[in-house]
Amino acid sequence: MENQRIVLASRPEGWVTPQNFRLEKAAAGSPGEGEVLVKNLWLSLDPYMRGRMSEQKSYVKGVDIGEVMVGQTVGEVVESKHSKLKPGDKVLTQLGWQLYGVTKDATKVDERAPLSYYLGMLGMPGMTAYFGLKDIGQPKPGETVVVSAASGAVGSVVGQLAKIWGCRAIGIAGGPEKCDFVKNELGFDECFDYKAGRLRDQLRDIDVYFDNVGGEILDICLARMKLFGRIVVCGMISDYNATEPYRVKNLRAVLVNRLKVQGMIVFDWKDRYGEALKALGGYYAAGKLKTRESVVEGLANAPQGLIALLKGGNFGKQLVKLA
Ligand code: NDP
Repeated sequence: MENQRIVLASRPEGWVTPQNFRLEKAAAGSPGEGEVLVKNLWLSLDPYMRGRMSEQKSYVKGVDIGEVMVGQTVGEVVESKHSKLKPGDKVLTQLGWQLYGVTKDATKVDERAPLSYYLGMLGMPGMTAYFGLKDIGQPKPGETVVVSAASGAVGSVVGQLAKIWGCRAIGIAGGPEKCDFVKNELGFDECFDYKAGRLRDQLRDIDVYFDNVGGEILDICLARMKLFGRIVVCGMISDYNATEPYRVKNLRAVLVNRLKVQGMIVFDWKDRYGEALKALGGYYAAGKLKTRESVVEGLANAPQGLIALLKGGNFGKQLVKLA
């Protein structure tokens, strides 16, 4: 069987370009003992992929030149030599940007929700929102939770969880259309358009700031935190393509307001993914958790999808439909 895959052709300097990728054809391979051959149906595109394209030291190793781009997929088992998986099973894998792949590491998904949701709200982004907000943000009913990139995969879940847990949820997003969706579809109490340039006046009395973007928005939020507030440092997308990092100016607020600021990487909670899936799945089944997806069709369009995501061109969880 023929496989198609996208490999890293060169490392970006600044913004990612289509020339950083190469589409290749290869044999799909066949499974050895304990392995499955999977046909990927959905590929997740995530901001962390920008980090994996560079040589800069991070929390995991980057992609080598010529190697298949990393990524989570949901697919269907085509052939199995795995004791617990059979052809037709739907599985979550780390097979990356390719149509087929052979792996030992495939987790069966229960199909109680559309398959793509296991890459978004019920997958890694949902878990990030759940553990970041619950364990680091520790929101109490009545408190104000602010989240940036609020219409996106992680942010949309953070705000909805804040509402479910009895808090006031304030979103920050780019443009009136995204803000309208965050407030009127997702049910946040408010959403501010940072591109309108009025965040400094609009934000106040923040108990928990869930930071997905870093940069100037983090700086403004630092200055608007309440005494003993908590900041969840989840992502810094405004810096991922910058050649010079943004320098935070309001760090003094951490001292004056006795803030707790903690970074997070979702893998640290891997032993508790079951807890998050149960909670998020329950909220979804009860109609309390909504999602929106941004879908590009076909593997060849994955580079454009990632480039758009890094610039805010996505509106909801960014996915590639492979089949
Ligand atoms: P999203 O679906 O939120 O998409 C990214 C969004 O970031 C864009 O839609 C855009 O929204 C916003 N954005 C892009 N550039 C800027 C900018 N310069 N300033 C402000 N906002 C910007 O992505 P995810 O939900 O998948 O990820 C959100 C963040 O969470 C990322 O930083 C990611 O790296 C991080 N993350 C961290 C994890 C962890 O374990 N720590 C795990 C998963 C994600 P808009 O149009 O509103 O600006």
